Amino acid sequence: MTTPVPFDDAIAQFDPVIGLEVHVELGTRTKMFCGCPTDFGAEPNTQVCPVCLGLPGSLPVANAKAIESIIRIGLALNCDIVEWCRMARKNYFYPDMPKDYQVSQYDEPICINGYLDVTVATDDGPQVFRVEIERVHMEEDTGKLTHAGGATGRIHGADYSLVDYNRAGIPLVEIVTKPVVGTGALAPIVARAYVTELRDIMRALGVSDVKMEEGSLRCDANVSLHHAGEPWGTRSETKNVNSLRSVERAVRSEIERQAGVLLSGGRVVQETRHFHEDTGVTTPGRSKEHAEDYRYFPEPDLVPIAPSREWVDELRATLPEQPSARRARLAQAWGISDFDMQALINAGVLDVVEESIAAGVSPEAARKWWAGELTRVANEQGVEVTALSVTHADILRIEELIASGSINDKLARQVFEGVLAGEGTPDEVVASRGLAVVSDDGALLAAIDEALAAQPDVAEKIRGGKVQAAGAIVGAVMKSTRGQADAAKVRALLLERLGISE
Ligand code: ADP
Ligand code: MG
Ligand code: ZN
Repeated sequence: MTTPVPFDDAIAQFDPVIGLEVHVELGTRTKMFCGCPTDFGAEPNTQVCPVCLGLPGSLPVANAKAIESIIRIGLALNCDIVEWCRMARKNYFYPDMPKDYQVSQYDEPICINGYLDVTVATDDGPQVFRVEIERVHMEEDTGKLTHAGGATGRIHGADYSLVDYNRAGIPLVEIVTKPVVGTGALAPIVARAYVTELRDIMRALGVSDVKMEEGSLRCDANVSLHHAGEPWGTRSETKNVNSLRSVERAVRSEIERQAGVLLSGGRVVQETRHFHEDTGVTTPGRSKEHAEDYRYFPEPDLVPIAPSREWVDELRATLPEQPSARRARLAQAWGISDFDMQALINAGVLDVVEESIAAGVSPEAARKWWAGELTRVANEQGVEVTALSVTHADILRIEELIASGSINDKLARQVFEGVLAGEGTPDEVVASRGLAVVSDDGALLAAIDEALAAQPDVAEKIRGGKVQAAGAIVGAVMKSTRGQADAAKVRALLLERLGISE
């Protein structure tokens, strides 16, 4: 194996071309060609019937809701919706596919020629890339194999394999980009931004739950490198990358690997590859040097799909606000910059921030807590920030406590900690942990006297006119009150105590 070249060096010598194929499992109640339910996590092989098991004599019927969803997806991605197209049989044998062919689309996809603009944050401000979309087509998912008895869960080394056909026949939409050029060093983040934007659009359309961890959104990342001005290089295709972060890492590591291969005089092989989360590198899968012949032919058991223009227009009217337009609108309403907006998106907290604001929390506070403390805690616990057990009402109450001077920002963090630990409402946590700001002058003066007594030299300095020295005493009081005092107030009381006016 050749040594990868550090990313910046690779980009200094080569231009990357990327291409993304995204599979989205639709959230229809029933499968693509039969009435079997699609619920995730059911007992293996309980959601099957003669159609999705491919039993002889069974006949498929297309799911109208799935066709509706794919047309809406196509429209949201600025595609043309064709007037007439057919499903095709893609013939191959694999045990996860009971029919020995997959019903898909080949040369007649239902949606073509679209695009999606994605924005990425750069040092010079936000930059927009138009990702052109080649096709959006309809197909059906395969079953799921579980390889048992081996150490890795892969087929290699396994004693036997189990097959679950519950997933076989669930509607899948495949979205394929045209090759994306001109992204340079931004290629990995453009790839990630594209998949993120796509996910947000699917969510806004309500067509899929787009959970990458459950496989309802899967991405294959194609990457090639070439010298500027020369023909494009051979691509590799990293399969089933299953998180947004991994999309970025997989593209990055492929650029580093291919640069290593090319600079050592080697040749990039056209193949599929697997990305490993733990090591952050890809390893070879199956060679694609010789195109497989799937003997595609039009599916004879299904009628062609010919969406009327009236239906397409009706569906166009159901499109939600595009996520990019929504972000622009919210940024303006909240008075924040594109950069701040991007930070919220990157942290995955845009929706919760919007909900908090709707619940009455101020935009500044909602952003501060969700993108700051709460994200930090979620990362620490390895959970989604939305899974934390804090409500918008809790945040609103904590903000009220800060505004009324009962607690300060620092104490608020402890209140959050208590709420997240299930210690009750913010008020209950403040009471049980004794977190209220000490505002009682008597208690503060006692703490000040104590600090002055402990540091007589500092006290002397202040008395002698060195007001800057007051900081040491204020610090000591903050410490003895465990941060539960208002520093400005302590300072004022201290100077008053020493008879100094500023
Ligand atoms: P396959 O069936 O081999 O996966 P597809 O046409 O479905 O082929 O997808 C190929 C993907 O690779 C598309 O997104 C396409 O834009 C992209 N692609 C094609 N050529 C290159 C290249 N030289 N470098 C990077 N990506 C490429
Ligand atoms: Mg492919
Ligand atoms: Zn079925």
